[in-house]
Amino acid sequence: MEEEKQRGKGHRLLLMPSPLQGHITPFLHLGDILFSKGFSITILHTIFNSPNPSSYPHFTFHAIPDGLSETEASTLDAVLLTDLINIRCKHPLKEWLASSVLSHQEPVSCFISDAALHFTQPVCDELKLPRLVLRTGGASSFLVFASFPLLREKGYLPVQESRLDEPVVDLPPLKVKDLPKFQSQDPEAFYKLVCRFVEECKASSGVIWNTFEELESSALTKLRQDFSIPIYPIGPFHKHLLTGSASSTSLLTPDKSCMSWLDQQDRNSVVYVSFGSIAAISEAEFLEIAWGLANSKQPFLWVIRPGLIHGSEWFEPLPSGFLENLGGRGYIVKWAPQEQVLSHPAVGAFWTHNGWNSTLESICEGVPMICMPCFADQKVNAKYASSVWRVGVQLQNKLDRGEVEKTIKTLMVGDEGNEIRENALNLKEKVNVSLKQGGSSYCFLDRLVSDILSLKS
Ligand code: UDP
Repeated sequence: MEEEKQRGKGHRLLLMPSPLQGHITPFLHLGDILFSKGFSITILHTIFNSPNPSSYPHFTFHAIPDGLSETEASTLDAVLLTDLINIRCKHPLKEWLASSVLSHQEPVSCFISDAALHFTQPVCDELKLPRLVLRTGGASSFLVFASFPLLREKGYLPVQESRLDEPVVDLPPLKVKDLPKFQSQDPEAFYKLVCRFVEECKASSGVIWNTFEELESSALTKLRQDFSIPIYPIGPFHKHLLTGSASSTSLLTPDKSCMSWLDQQDRNSVVYVSFGSIAAISEAEFLEIAWGLANSKQPFLWVIRPGLIHGSEWFEPLPSGFLENLGGRGYIVKWAPQEQVLSHPAVGAFWTHNGWNSTLESICEGVPMICMPCFADQKVNAKYASSVWRVGVQLQNKLDRGEVEKTIKTLMVGDEGNEIRENALNLKEKVNVSLKQGGSSYCFLDRLVSDILSLKS
């Protein structure tokens, strides 16, 4: 055991996430996992959305100037933001690496880059520094990204409204409506970004995934055929660490008061509603969600992030007296301690946008999902959750209060709901097996550590 903790001793790893919550969290968790193997960890981050170093006194943090103006940093266009970072951080990173890597007392074993930061591959190549990639999304959605040129050639992309219900024959069980979409100022920018980061993944020394073999075996097998580099599915990251040992990775402060509210609710009764850190909805959609929740008669805990509703500061469009009239059945927070919430016995369902972290966190706790994907990989994740793993139901058609009420009832009180709950508990068990000694994630992590130690710069 002691030996295990020492394997990486004397070796430093440089980790660089994209500056978005869903990327920073898995990077910090991966840092903790590799720190537990003895490696020294440096987190390289942009000035924009920089993580809080005080939660990680055992890491070194270094800011790479991103040159983003206030307006650029406040854009809701994640593709545009990523493109800017890929351009603006290149020289500052190169300069810093060139001056500091050689002067480090400990040898730097490798650079672990977010897949979206494709500029790091040419920089590492120039400095002869091995580069591993962490893809913070799932493997099934990555396979779709890797197929973008083929999907375009076959006419599935760009997505046409008239073909939404057509199956994508090369990627079962997806239909055209499940293909990733992104509202960007430049409609071509998303396609170009994806193609570029897939190429630079192929050029890396290996890709680490926050997933586990049993969950996405078919996508992982296909990726191993198409990519001639090692693939390490070592997730779910947050479950490698002993309960309570994971430091806070949140950019926003979680409101822990909801935990005592949850303590007062019946087992499996609460619908937890959260759409992650970026997704935004219209005022009309917000009101349909509110009334659907109210009419379902189930208790609910709802994360309404400031900025979630287009054109509103917080939840001003909610009719006055709405919460009071529910007699304590609804609880609203700006940001929740999500991992803790999902592991609370009162939580019976998670209404999610199917960001990969949320999807995986729900799977880890055996909580069935109501899937409402918004953009990017979320549609693929939702399709897998509802149709392949069968641990959730997708909200169909238009977002309307009747549909919301019906879907919540299907999951919380019907036979179909019981079956989905059972599937979710079975999948949770598979997570636990994969992390135990001899399990798939345990073994891939072991291999990753050995491979890092044998990388040559
Ligand atoms: N999260 C949280 N509190 C909240 C909402 C979200 O801690 O109230 C965390 C959640 O646990 C997850 C991350 O934020 O780790 C969101 O990542 P995800 O990939 O699900 O979605 P994104 O924000 O990237 O769209």
